[in-house]
Amino acid sequence: MLAAIFNGPLDLEIKDYTLPSPGNNELLIQVEACGVCGTDFHIYNGESYAKTPVITGHEYVGTIVEKGRDVKDFSIGDHIAVDPNIYCGECYYCKNGNINFCSNLKALGVSVNGGFAEYSLVPVSQAHYIPKDFSFTAAAFAEPLSCCIRGMDQASVKHGESVVLIGGGTIGLLMLQLVKISGAGKIILIEPVAEKRNIAISLGAEYVFDPNDGSMFKQISDLTSGGPDVVIECAGNSKAAELAVSLPKRGGRVIIFGLSSKKETININLQDFFLKELSIKGSLLNPFTFSRSVELLVNKKINADKLKPSLSPLADLKNILSSPRKSTIIKHQITNTKLKRSSL
Ligand SMILES: [Zn+2]
Ligand SMILES: [Zn+2]
Repeated sequence: MLAAIFNGPLDLEIKDYTLPSPGNNELLIQVEACGVCGTDFHIYNGESYAKTPVITGHEYVGTIVEKGRDVKDFSIGDHIAVDPNIYCGECYYCKNGNINFCSNLKALGVSVNGGFAEYSLVPVSQAHYIPKDFSFTAAAFAEPLSCCIRGMDQASVKHGESVVLIGGGTIGLLMLQLVKISGAGKIILIEPVAEKRNIAISLGAEYVFDPNDGSMFKQISDLTSGGPDVVIECAGNSKAAELAVSLPKRGGRVIIFGLSSKKETININLQDFFLKELSIKGSLLNPFTFSRSVELLVNKKINADKLKPSLSPLADLKNILSSPRKSTIIKHQITNTKLKRSSL
């Protein structure tokens, strides 16, 4: 089978790889679609951890082509979405219900071979059933959406609260839809690219701002009686995080959701922090949120089609990871070239 092998920073080879066969509790799937995540760019550039060599790609869906002898709940031909994060169940954190902090965490596409390949081995514990009439390209948003649900659990937005989202990429636009479902009052999104601001409006943002607009801060303050209740940073850089902590009203809450590169730090005005009694939280992975994510997608509560993924064959992955990120493409997906666009 063809696979993308990550050998180290800036070193990715698309080459033939031995087709694995499933162990007793594993599934072999034909990968139909695998999203290219910001994390994949960080890994490729050496800014985020991955084992080497490894097949990266952690946002994927596929069709079961072979199964281990102990697998009871899935059949050959079933479509599944893959939760890449494999928790040990035995460490201190797992035993206390905080599985996303697992000391022995493994992740498909990071420390174990993942989805940038024609086929992938998936432990049955990581497989989530997707109805056959649901599109693969929409289902491939299940992983990023499951992480966004964690972010929303961390933010616990109350009905009527004002929310500012920073960043209108995949995460910002998924989070925006979750914020809308949550019953937020005013929903404001900050994003420098006009096309993305327009998509945000079509998905329910009432106000959008270009961060380069000098009057943005004052306008948001006026719209929200002194600042929003909640700010969710979805851009993954220090500038966005600094903006996030500066925006809320007194008693406000900030979720730093985006993954920044290793060296980035931010400045916080400590007196401002004290006087506002600010809450700042992170959001890591997707503990117990994957089924909820699939449920929202399959029941069309989240519109993944509006995010219009740009579909490419596996052979183009290196090109995608090494060229400057095009601001107008929200999401790249690597898809099975044997399938027609209409059946993806
Ligand atoms: Zn991801
Ligand atoms: Zn553990």
